[in-house]
Formats: sequence, C-alpha cells, structure tokens
Amino acid sequence: MPTSANAASELQELHARVRACTLCGLHATRTQAVPGTGPAHARIMIVGEAPGANEDLQGQPFVGAAGKLLDNLLAKIGLSRQDVFVTNVLKCRPPMNRDPMPNEAETCLPYLRRQFAIIRPAAVLILGRHALERMLPGVGSISRVHGQIFMRSDVAFMPCYHPAAALHNGALLADLERDFERVREYLDRLFPAPEPEPEPAPATVEPLSPSEQLPLI
Ligand code: URA
Repeated sequence: MPTSANAASELQELHARVRACTLCGLHATRTQAVPGTGPAHARIMIVGEAPGANEDLQGQPFVGAAGKLLDNLLAKIGLSRQDVFVTNVLKCRPPMNRDPMPNEAETCLPYLRRQFAIIRPAAVLILGRHALERMLPGVGSISRVHGQIFMRSDVAFMPCYHPAAALHNGALLADLERDFERVREYLDRLFPAPEPEPEPAPATVEPLSPSEQLPLI
C-alpha cells in the first residue's frame, strides 16, 4: 500500500504525464489538461465528465457554475474540497463542450484507473450519465440509479445527477441534494464518529478544617 508521501509523489508524476499527454485529438484544442485536485489520501473521489471552458483555462476541475453548486452540496454534508479528490473521466475539454467520444474516453480511462489505484478511495461519487456509462457500464440510466450504492471490491460507487444538469433543470436539484445526503449517511456508517470520552468522575474534595478556611472579609 503506498504511503501518503509516496501516493502524493506518484500522483504528481501521473499528473505531469496527463499535462503532457497527446494520445487523443483533444490535446490539439485544449488550453491545458485538467488532471484533478485534492489530497492523495482522500477517502472520497468525485468523478465528472470532462473539463469545460473555465476548467480548461484554470487547469482545475469544477471551477465554473457547476463547481460552485458542487461546493455547496459538499458543504451541506460537512465536506469541502480539502476532503475530496475531484477529477473527470476526460482530462481535456472537448471543443464546444460536446459529448466525449468513445475513443477519447477509452484513451483517457487509464489515467483515471491509475488515480484510483494511487488514492484508493473508500467511496466514489459518479457525477452524471457520461461518467456513469464509463465507470459502471450496464447498471442502468442515471435517472434510475442515482442515489444508489454499488459496491465493487469494497469500494462504494454512488451515481448522482451531474450538478450542471441540476443547474439546467431545477427540478433535479432536490434529487441531487438527497443523493448527497445518502452519501453522508453512507460515510457516517463507514466512518462513525469516535465515542465521546467518558466524563471524568468528579473529584471528591475534603472539607477544610475551620483553621484552614480563608475568611471572606
Ligand atoms: N463538468 C464536469 O463534468 N467536469 C468539470 O470539471 C466541470 C464541469
């Protein structure tokens, strides 16, 4: 099992390879690749579809409007970006935000698999139908399986609606919030809060003898 320091340096090396990658046509149109951000020892990994325009410019995942919603959803369940590793199936932006092409996803998936092997998360949030199709092929549509937990080799995979879908169709927001609450419930079962320390027994104080008592005035 990689130590935390090893994992961090392995992740850095991998991300340098992603930034230099020219394995598919997307390298020609990207501003920069977006490998992912977050601690190498994160227990939770969040996987979206592909970088958009803001992500392509800043080199970080989920920094636009969908990212703000993601941050709010995380905050509501007591998490922040410091607790999670965030990435995408595709590490480069498809031009005009078109859907990823199958060959692009196939070419890019080994990077996600390697991130997964280094980080070894306990839970993976899958955001949206494209990431779902790639990560849990054949389980069903996102509208049917969102909020469910799929265990694979002791790792919990949890499909949720994509935040961008909820921004587009406000009716999905309540579902998305409920999906995140389920994530919280699962994490609470997985990592229960430590039992509070028992209260120390009250010290018994011997009464002072009259000669030891200080006069009040
Ligand atoms: N949508 C995604 O799927 N990923 C991002 O990084 C941003 C928007």
